[in-house]
Amino acid sequence: MARLKTQLVHGVPVDDNNTGAVNPPIYNSSTYTFKSVEDTPRWDYARSGNPTREFLERQIAQLEHGCQGFAFASGLAAIHAALAIFKPGDHIIVSDNIYGGTYSLINEHFTRWGLVFHPIDTTDLRLVDKVFKAVEDEGEHVEAIYFETLTNPLLKVNDTAALADIAHEHGAIAIVDNTFLTPYLQRPLDVGVDIVLHSATKYLAGHSDVNAGLAVARERDIAERLYFSLNRLGGVLAPAECDAVRRGIQTLALRMDRQQENALTIARFLRNSPVVADVHYPGLSDSPDYHLALRELNGFGGVLSFEVKKGVDPADVLNNLHVFRLAVSLGAVESLAEFPARMTHFEVPREERLKLGISDELIRLSVGIEDVFDLLEDLKQALDIAEKAAFSGRNEGNRIAVDSQSFERAFGGELETGNVHDVSGVRDINSVQ
Ligand SMILES: *Cc1c(COP(=O)(O)O)cnc(C)c1O
Repeated sequence: MARLKTQLVHGVPVDDNNTGAVNPPIYNSSTYTFKSVEDTPRWDYARSGNPTREFLERQIAQLEHGCQGFAFASGLAAIHAALAIFKPGDHIIVSDNIYGGTYSLINEHFTRWGLVFHPIDTTDLRLVDKVFKAVEDEGEHVEAIYFETLTNPLLKVNDTAALADIAHEHGAIAIVDNTFLTPYLQRPLDVGVDIVLHSATKYLAGHSDVNAGLAVARERDIAERLYFSLNRLGGVLAPAECDAVRRGIQTLALRMDRQQENALTIARFLRNSPVVADVHYPGLSDSPDYHLALRELNGFGGVLSFEVKKGVDPADVLNNLHVFRLAVSLGAVESLAEFPARMTHFEVPREERLKLGISDELIRLSVGIEDVFDLLEDLKQALDIAEKAAFSGRNEGNRIAVDSQSFERAFGGELETGNVHDVSGVRDINSVQ
């Protein structure tokens, strides 16, 4: 069988193409003819299925090592469909650090429909086991655990294999949102997860030009429940968008390789900046999640976050970036910067947000494929402006040591020797086929 990088390019062709075109056709047809009234055609109506969508669904199922894939109009439509397989009264353990839109979907929609959620820190495995048992002690049963492989915006690594094991020990299924890693960096179904979800809007499509969601089931019975959700709730991805995601997936490995190389260089630079208090990126060898990431992942991804020191206004950094665009979303070829407290995590009440560690000083970067020197220079000049603003008086009591040589010291030497390209310890994706 072809290796992953080859699979990305070729997919699993749907046998529908008489022309020899190297790209699968986009079928702009909502309905398909029957040969006769007795006919049961492969495709009859586009919401139920169509060849363009099927190409993408086969592609993601192959990449994630699942039995069937499903393409939705957005990531949230995919998450909605996955949670819609449950019924009122079902208990679900959910990570307390999840995408803001998912947080709202759970708290403002699904609780109204009678699902019972138990939000906890899923990086604490003993706590997870305890909550399963606590629900069982009440005579109830947990049906599922839901979490993200890499959390947003603090980039904590969930131990996917261990969480899937705990879920199965308690007769529950594991559902994960793998948006931040993609099958290139982790395949959750291989370690026992039952449903993997994606906002394909991000890395899979990769060009900030389409909203899309994908789901993949490991086994047939769950695939059937997901298909019911897709077809009956109707949040399907349109053919042209399916093709945009397909094309994006073809270059996933190339993009992700550059993005993580750039992200690691930037993380190292930021860690040495006098304006930065903390950097969150699992690829830093002193990150608390570094060893877990090495064990479970094939890379560290292209998103990182950092906190400026108290007294420095994060807006002074963000408003002065020029190469990084100030925007929500992530995973595309261009670099983006954003302020979680106001831009992506406003749905989470401030007190809860602070408890999760998403501070008012936190900045998130989605690193693109640009020349890393342009990205570093952009950050350096914006951090300088923020440092000067803090230094020149808004907050006299909180002066920050100024060191004009810090930039050069921070990454100059490393870049000269080429060490920044060393992501040693990251396993070769080809070695784990
Ligand atoms: C963006 C995102 C979503 C939602 O996806 P949409 O395509 O915007 O609906 C869900 N989960 C994660 C982790 C995301 O980053």
